[in-house]
Amino acid sequence: MPELPEVETVRLGIEPLAGVPIERARVARRDVVRDRAGKRHGAIEPAMLLAHDAIARTRRHGKQLALVGTSGVCVLVHLGMSGQLLVLDRGGRVAGGHAHVSWTLRDGRRLVFRDPRRFGGVWLLPDEDALDARWATLGPDAMRVTGAMLEASLARSRRAVKAGLLDQRALAGVGNIYADEALFDAGIDPHRACETLGGEEWDRLAVGIVGVLGDGLRRGGATLRDYRRPDGSAGQGARGHRVYGRAGLACLRCGQELARSEVAQRSTVRCARCQPALSG
Ligand SMILES: [Zn+2]
Repeated sequence: MPELPEVETVRLGIEPLAGVPIERARVARRDVVRDRAGKRHGAIEPAMLLAHDAIARTRRHGKQLALVGTSGVCVLVHLGMSGQLLVLDRGGRVAGGHAHVSWTLRDGRRLVFRDPRRFGGVWLLPDEDALDARWATLGPDAMRVTGAMLEASLARSRRAVKAGLLDQRALAGVGNIYADEALFDAGIDPHRACETLGGEEWDRLAVGIVGVLGDGLRRGGATLRDYRRPDGSAGQGARGHRVYGRAGLACLRCGQELARSEVAQRSTVRCARCQPALSG
């Protein structure tokens, strides 16, 4: 599943298309395209899909990506569970099919959105105000979060701190993997209630989040290159996770066996020694 680092890697890969005229946009599956109200419909204005326009710039907030046209129209993309945005050279083909939306550029390249499991989709927004309004309902972007921002959005909550990190309205972009990794990095028990954390702990957690996402971004490029292989194999196992997926193995910091538990119905792995429960 694409997480923030993968989405940022995709954004960086699309940025070089900025300024190249888009000759046409083609929708092969209408039900992946929605309007600002979330409705799917039969008739799609080509201009809303950036036909005869060009990408002026790309934006990302959390795990969402947007193509902003020179006309101001925005195409918001959710990759969902299995979505991909691929840049193909002239004559290039999409391995495995499911090319749901494709944009043909004047220089012959194609940008393709494919989403075999269709948990993602494409939203057509009339302008950046509509995009900003949508993103205003999300928490701050996790790549740029600070301790003060985390404290402002979570400190009064009684939820487990991991549940808070996964709530996209509180913090945009952290999924199960990076929540576990960031909490380990910060030495904080995922089960602790948000309201028990102090200012210095929020600072440590923010440093952990930004750090693990940065590590993921450096590895994201490699993952995405794997994604493009014709056989579709992805190098998920090659990532250097320290707790995620390592329950029962030794903590890389202290050697204690890592323990699995559940927080917010999500499998959670922690080191009880490095991330101690609150005593008393
Ligand atoms: Zn440990």
